[in-house]
Amino acid sequence: MTQFLALLLMVLSACQVHADNLKLYDIQTRVNLDSSVLYIEDANASLDIGEVLQQALPWQQGGPKSFNKSYNQSAWWLRLDIDNAQDKPQRRLIELSYAVLDHVDVYIVAGGQVLASHMLGDKQPFYERVFDHRFFVIPVEWQPSQSLQIYLRVKSSSAVQAPLTLWEEKAFYGFDTTRTIMNGIFFGIMLVIAAYNLLIFCVLGERTYLLYVGYVICMPLFLASLGGYSFQYMWPTFTDWNDESILFFLSGVVVFGVAFTRSFLVVQRYSPGLDRLLVIALAGGIVLAATTFMLPYYVNIKALIAWATFACILALLSGVFCWYSQQKVAQYYTIAWVSMLSGGVILALNKAGVLPANLFTEYATHIGSALEVVLLSFALAERINEERRLRFEAQEEALTGIRQANEELEYRVQERTKELEAMTCKLRELSNTDQLTGLHNRRFFDSQIKMEWLRACRYQHPISIIAIDIDHFKSVNDRYGHMVGDECLREIARRVGLGVRWPTDVAARYGGEEFVMLLPETTREDAVIVAERVRKSVEVAHIDTRAGELSLTISAGIYCVTPENDNFSGIDILLEKADECLYRAKAMGRNCIFPVPD
Ligand code: GH3
Ligand code: MG
Ligand code: MG
Repeated sequence: MTQFLALLLMVLSACQVHADNLKLYDIQTRVNLDSSVLYIEDANASLDIGEVLQQALPWQQGGPKSFNKSYNQSAWWLRLDIDNAQDKPQRRLIELSYAVLDHVDVYIVAGGQVLASHMLGDKQPFYERVFDHRFFVIPVEWQPSQSLQIYLRVKSSSAVQAPLTLWEEKAFYGFDTTRTIMNGIFFGIMLVIAAYNLLIFCVLGERTYLLYVGYVICMPLFLASLGGYSFQYMWPTFTDWNDESILFFLSGVVVFGVAFTRSFLVVQRYSPGLDRLLVIALAGGIVLAATTFMLPYYVNIKALIAWATFACILALLSGVFCWYSQQKVAQYYTIAWVSMLSGGVILALNKAGVLPANLFTEYATHIGSALEVVLLSFALAERINEERRLRFEAQEEALTGIRQANEELEYRVQERTKELEAMTCKLRELSNTDQLTGLHNRRFFDSQIKMEWLRACRYQHPISIIAIDIDHFKSVNDRYGHMVGDECLREIARRVGLGVRWPTDVAARYGGEEFVMLLPETTREDAVIVAERVRKSVEVAHIDTRAGELSLTISAGIYCVTPENDNFSGIDILLEKADECLYRAKAMGRNCIFPVPD
């Protein structure tokens, strides 16, 4: 009973279908066939055209959208009933615009008889096609008032999609030319950008550019394989590679896209967590590229689409995150990525029937990815700028640092030099000073007398020496001890020092309790005055010591000479003579001076 009812329904629906057969009119340049498609599923892929024609099959009506049965193992029979309502022959093209179907067997039937058949599909070498086109295009001719049934048997490891259009031939060529130009522009842009960035890579040697070139090459190759261009132009006989090429280049898009993202945004610096996920996406992409040649297409393509979505989201997140983290080039990257994704979304909305099908929505992916690579190219150039600016700033900073360090060093050197100079001065002073009395020492006196000797010789000036010795000093030591002796020595030395009036005069401690005065440009008479003044100064002094006030006297010998030659032996004679005079003063009873006689 149920079988009978089903048969009845079938017959009724067949009648109804016949009533709705598509009619050809001259004015119809382009007719969308999607809603005219009748189809049945041949789950075992066992039916042949003979069986299809003979059996009463449960044909189903296609919807308003393109025929799409996703991934499956079945064979699908599609049927189009098209009548020529006019009394003249008609010629049309039927276009199945989905290039990657494995098998498309076409049968043109009239009155139950197969008039023509074509074995299409990308498992057949390209040159076997009845019409030289990347899509499947079938020329069909109608006799006057003839009804034709076009049967298509579709079977594919790819998604089973069959967008069908009936074309008036001229209109097809016009439309196809526009479409080809659009694709040409797209591939041209990609080629130029790939070549340009490859050149930049050769010049700069920076890995990011090479990864970008990889991405820019894989993206159009993937779209070209999906669109049937690569089969038509690049490998028209490699029928096995056809499906694999789609997987391979899409994996390439994922691998290079992710690697480029990591390198370009330096994601690791901004988010190590995101970077780890990107590494996982990258590794997955490589694995999927390798499995292209091992696993069946429908398994691989599903995994790859999921993985590409995951990578895409990650890349977008990385861009947004780096932008948020104030990375300057990340904004270009994110905008570029969004434009590419928008292309995908627009195409999906077009296919879902939300957006109207036109050149813009059909080629949204192409436009989006072209825009993306152009923007990314711009971002790469901006990155060079940014790096140059950073390098310049770093150089400036380094220079400022060096300048500051130099200034600091100079300041320190100056400080140290001053310290050293002061120390040298102090040392010189110390080395020229007698520790006990603070007068100049013998060393200083010896150097000064040499200098003054030469000067006196040169200008023929007289030079006077006063040799001074404390009288009976031994007895002071013996009586009050050395400490008291030292106190006396210091006071007498001070008074000897006060005897000097000119800067060139030198008063020095010459030995134990002996002093010497060097008076350049001083005559015997003037020297006598100086000696006498000193003697008196000591004579009147009450030297304050720990043993009470003490009084001491000195004796002085004065010698004066005008050097005849610059021979330093004259100095020794001068000193000896002064000493002799001193002894003469001692001999005269002490507390007196003895100048060399005229
Ligand atoms: P004269 O009048 O003949 O010079 O008798 P005098 O005792 O001074 O004899 P002389 O000049 O030979 O004595 C030198 C003494 O000076 C010997 C030593 O005790 C004393 N003397 C030398 N150097 C120092 C010193 O640095 N400190 C002290 N306290 N005494 C010194
Ligand atoms: Mg003495
Ligand atoms: Mg003495």
